[in-house]
Amino acid sequence: MKLIDGKDISGKVLDEIKLSIDERLKNNLKVPHLAAILVGDDGASKTYVNSKIKACERVGFKSSLFKFDDSISENELISQIQDINEDNDIDGFIVQLPLPKHINQEKILNKVSPDKDVDGFHPNNYGKMTLGIDTFLPATPAGIIELIERSEIQTEGKKCLVIGRSQIVGRPISILLSQNNSFGNSTVTVAHSRSKDLKKLCLESDIIISAIGIPEFIKGDMIKEGSSIIDVGITRVKDISSPKGYRITGDVDFKSVSSKVGYITPVPGGVGPMTISMLLKNTLKACELSD
Ligand code: NAD
Repeated sequence: MKLIDGKDISGKVLDEIKLSIDERLKNNLKVPHLAAILVGDDGASKTYVNSKIKACERVGFKSSLFKFDDSISENELISQIQDINEDNDIDGFIVQLPLPKHINQEKILNKVSPDKDVDGFHPNNYGKMTLGIDTFLPATPAGIIELIERSEIQTEGKKCLVIGRSQIVGRPISILLSQNNSFGNSTVTVAHSRSKDLKKLCLESDIIISAIGIPEFIKGDMIKEGSSIIDVGITRVKDISSPKGYRITGDVDFKSVSSKVGYITPVPGGVGPMTISMLLKNTLKACELSD
């Protein structure tokens, strides 16, 4: 079994970004500026945004946090987004999800300028991704591709099963892996909550990418010897032995699959750390495009 160390690979990506920033500074070019919009008081959202800001500091990006009370109206939020769209110093920005229920998420994401949409969720960028046109790829699928490439896992002609069809992970990664490029050319199957006989689908697969959010759902008897597993799932499971009272668990029962797999990502420390480094990579790209 080979462990894919997402923390290490993410660190390498951040170091590469830092080198690009040093180079930009030498050439008197502007440093990238990432902004984040945070609405409300959700603890997990605050943690995610803070990690993004910390990562900006590590690589030498400028960052801004726009915090709003969860009573903000949809129109007011749209007007704030328009201001950020027009702010020439900000290269990219994200709207931390989820938004309060009275705000239409789709409407808000559509207001983000596609040139600053470093999350890759605007329909223009999502469409480009689907067509295989260079654009900002959504961060988690881009992170998965980076892990696969840097671990030299062969995808061409391989049977790849994506479990989960969300707009942020399952659907985009299934599109990317089927495309005709160096990290694609897989024969991709997408499974979801209505799929039948998941065990059979898993046993037939060379690569499994699981993004469902059910702790330890995939067991050793469901996978083929030597297959590669990318575990995207992140679920908090009660654990009184942990100081926090919970532990983070993936979709895969690591213990029972570890003796059979070729490559596997741990949880935590696999896909998770890649998401932020890919967001920063997109922000650098946005900045370079506006040079
Ligand atoms: P989601 O939570 O929106 O949807 C879950 C998906 O799983 C659905 O498409 C559903 O059809 C499928 N599903 C549910 N039960 C199933 C079953 N029994 N068999 C087959 N498919 C089933 O998806 P999401 O937003 O992609 O999140 C999935 C998991 O990935 C969550 O645990 C989430 O926390 C995690 N996640 C991690 C990262 C990261 O950076 N590592 C990023 C995004 C999401």
